[in-house]
Amino acid sequence: MDQWWQRSERVMPGGVSSPVRSFRGVGGTPFLVERGQGARLFDHDGRSYIDYVMSYGPLILGHAQGQVVAAIQAQAVKGTSYGAPTTLEVEMAETLVGAYPGLEMARLVNSGTEATMSALRVARAVTGRSLVLKFIGCYHGHHDSLLVRAGSGAATLGVPDSAGVPVQMTNLTLTATYNAVGELEDLFRRRGDEIAAVIVEPVAGNMGTIGPEPEFLHALRRLTTDRGSLLIFDEVMSGFRVGWGGAAQHFGITPDLVTLAKVIGAGLPVGAYGGARAFMEQVAPLGPVYQAGTLSGNPLAMAAGLAQLGIIAQQPDFYQRLSLKVNQLAQGLVDRARHHRIPTQATTVGGMMSLFFSERVPRNFSEVEASNGARYRAYFHGMLDRGVFMPPSLFETVFLSAAHTDEEIEATLSAADEVFARL
Ligand SMILES: *Cc1c(COP(=O)(O)O)cnc(C)c1O
Repeated sequence: MDQWWQRSERVMPGGVSSPVRSFRGVGGTPFLVERGQGARLFDHDGRSYIDYVMSYGPLILGHAQGQVVAAIQAQAVKGTSYGAPTTLEVEMAETLVGAYPGLEMARLVNSGTEATMSALRVARAVTGRSLVLKFIGCYHGHHDSLLVRAGSGAATLGVPDSAGVPVQMTNLTLTATYNAVGELEDLFRRRGDEIAAVIVEPVAGNMGTIGPEPEFLHALRRLTTDRGSLLIFDEVMSGFRVGWGGAAQHFGITPDLVTLAKVIGAGLPVGAYGGARAFMEQVAPLGPVYQAGTLSGNPLAMAAGLAQLGIIAQQPDFYQRLSLKVNQLAQGLVDRARHHRIPTQATTVGGMMSLFFSERVPRNFSEVEASNGARYRAYFHGMLDRGVFMPPSLFETVFLSAAHTDEEIEATLSAADEVFARL
């Protein structure tokens, strides 16, 4: 195992394919996964972990769910990519259109990053404007224009902005504080007419889970409509996780464009963006906005995603039950921490949650940063030692799945009780 990690670090930066997996945010050496089943991961030494990372969101039914695996197997023998249209893509696009408020047409891509990059391009083409507004601590993928004060992995490494992104590019990106309506109104008063789009995680999940205050999303919708900017909901994480119709349905606010990924691919590489027909008709080959992909709408990803979404659609109370589990964990953790007199806040929105070691519920990135990071690191390692894999950074969301049993949640709470006793 250690030998594998040494080999890994020799040939891959930080030993990983994506930074947060390196445990830089919490210290120590990551385990290498051998397999996953249900709510559990198994490493190369045969240790088992109750998994609350779940591939950072996609696995809402758990690891290696039987029907999802069967759908992938059935498709694999028919070929893995064609470079020609399939009925699977039609079914996926129809599913998204049927589920998401205001979504009339969708384009399938390979990742959340691609989805947000392309949605921005559409917004700029439609409005003829250049500026975009994002919120500090929201992450929208790693393309240049949005890799600005981007929370999540970047925040874990303490790099607010990435090297290698020319200032000329980020000059086109304005930033504002999440949940700060006054600041937003002021920005729009000064520069509203130059803003092509506001992109937002309607439930922030890349500074831990931070819900929107009710007036925040309403203000975004009102200001963008008034000034002719497009409102983009980045629901790569929240889509099909806080509910079937994402945060848009949950909060009753319809954006102009939406980006999706994670849950819609069930752990295979996927993404999608879409919106009103008038906007999406700007995309090539119908319109002048170029965007393409060799593997886009990949049949394996479509088969896996359709199987996962199909299972959810058959259970009218799916999200209700998921959020009950989330609340059971959140409340259980808070109760045990309070018992040991550790100031702790749990935030939950639907299937998303986070635990912060702070006196008050954080509402934005700087309040998350002000929470007790050293205590989070100790908590993370205490839990890992007891076979529970919590997110290896306080800026990441805790993900549960339908596969997490009451027994596993109880075992998690018992482990937490021991850990809190020693903090
Ligand atoms: C994960 C995430 C992305 C990036 O998606 P990738 O598939 O990792 O490129 C974009 N936006 C949000 C809100 C995300 O959570």
